[in-house]
Amino acid sequence: MKFSDMIYTRPELDETKTALAGMIDAFEQAADAAAARVAYMAVDAFTSRLSTMAALAYVRHSLDTNDAFFDAEQEYFDQNMPLLRELDQRLELALLSSPHRPALEKEFGALMFTDIEMSLKTFKPEIVADLQAENKLCSDYDKLLASAQIEFDGKKLNLPQLAPYHQDKDRGVRKASTEARAAWFMSHSGTLDDMFDRLVKTRTQMARKLGYENFIELGYYRMQRNCYDRDMVARFRRAVIEHIVPVTDRLKKEQASRIGVPSITVYDDPFNFPDGNARPFGSPEQIFGHGRKMYRELSPKTGEFIDFMMGGELFDVLARAGKSGGGYCIDFSDYKAPFIFANFNGTSDDIDVLTHEAGHAYAAYCARDIIPAPLRQVTYETAEVHSMSMEFFTWPWMDGFFGEQTAKYKYSHLAGALIFLPYGCMVDEFQHRVYERPDMTPAQRNALWLELEGRYRPWLDLAGFPFYGGGRRWQAQSHIYERPFYYIDYCLAQSTALAFWAEDRQNHAAAWDKYQKFIDSAGKNTFAGLIDSAALPSPFEADTLKTVAAAAVKWLDENARF
Ligand code: ZN
Repeated sequence: MKFSDMIYTRPELDETKTALAGMIDAFEQAADAAAARVAYMAVDAFTSRLSTMAALAYVRHSLDTNDAFFDAEQEYFDQNMPLLRELDQRLELALLSSPHRPALEKEFGALMFTDIEMSLKTFKPEIVADLQAENKLCSDYDKLLASAQIEFDGKKLNLPQLAPYHQDKDRGVRKASTEARAAWFMSHSGTLDDMFDRLVKTRTQMARKLGYENFIELGYYRMQRNCYDRDMVARFRRAVIEHIVPVTDRLKKEQASRIGVPSITVYDDPFNFPDGNARPFGSPEQIFGHGRKMYRELSPKTGEFIDFMMGGELFDVLARAGKSGGGYCIDFSDYKAPFIFANFNGTSDDIDVLTHEAGHAYAAYCARDIIPAPLRQVTYETAEVHSMSMEFFTWPWMDGFFGEQTAKYKYSHLAGALIFLPYGCMVDEFQHRVYERPDMTPAQRNALWLELEGRYRPWLDLAGFPFYGGGRRWQAQSHIYERPFYYIDYCLAQSTALAFWAEDRQNHAAAWDKYQKFIDSAGKNTFAGLIDSAALPSPFEADTLKTVAAAAVKWLDENARF
């Protein structure tokens, strides 16, 4: 099935509610475990259809945010999905209290029921209007960023199209393009402050209606944190400050002397080498051609996967006006097909689409026949292990994308993995402190961000830009608006991906085998359980970051020949 042949039809709310309620009735009235199973599987098939339609609307809306039809459909889902939560909750309660639960638990595993218990803590009918308001604010943020039309280099560019200029060899171009980007954000700073303020207040109100002190506890339940808590996350962040910040500080100083600047300003930050960053060569077709070869050579199953993706036109990667920013991988479960969305811009980010996003898609592909849906679902840090590790497993094929610039690419990639950790933890700490004190003013939030910049990225020179120097960098980080607390997941996953990288250097066959098993047991185990059963170092252990960083730094020092 090709993406263009997938037919979207709006699931009408009343029909959906009636059908779902009837199926839940059947589950509740099941005479025996076999009948309960049949009834539950019917609900699963029905909700799979619903999620496929929601995903199709989301993707087609993000492909062209100016398309009035899908704009209306996205709004329809934003408004109506919260209204279905009440029925979801009825099903969840019925599953937990079912006399047939032992039989279902035996077949599907206990984790599914733990996660249901957690999900029940995130909803009451009283918060429907708040969920609708939250959805609308997130869509508004997305639309605002997609609407950016910035005059630069004689063209009108959106944010992804402007991005390559931030890595230009000419320092003047980097500075001017960064100024243009910052000026766009500054011209919308009032709206961005207001949107976030409303999001914080809406989320806090929801949390209080559900009986929590603030949004943090609710945020953790919504992220299905089923194997670690706030204290463990706080310890992880402290370990990053202790073991990673000094390393990145050194790497950044080396970068400054390599590119010949006195300090790393925001416009030098992404620029790694005096003769320019590694850029992939060739047209998008050539890049995809090599991507196909790479996955066919990596393993028989990845070969099957890439043929499936390319045959189904399951990539949309070219940047266009009106297209949403960023990149993501999403599932059309009825078609058993993942889909990858990206904005190619001529930088090494384009290759991440074929490694990072394809890592997500590969895990989804491996799980595509598993039913019911909860057994395919993984928490986000596990999902990011899939993607971030794939970035490293595909290293041997990088010369086909970067040619003689491959050494520069690998160096930047590995150094970037370390440099990312403090940034990711800063985003996480920012969110904890914002939701702890929801009445902070926008100015206080900016001051907080600046304070964190000083602690996590002491090497970064913010002078000369009201946007950066004024502590507003966070307004460009969509997760802070749209996906609260989804950021530490990248950091935890990075720690594991670096462990896979180190094992892959020692023994590729064994490391790949371990990775495939990690993917295959994903829906059946928690993140901590998966780490444990793969005998990988846990990011929550005191020495893990120190050890993984030491291995990476050793490699960087040995390979820093530019
Ligand atoms: Zn990802």
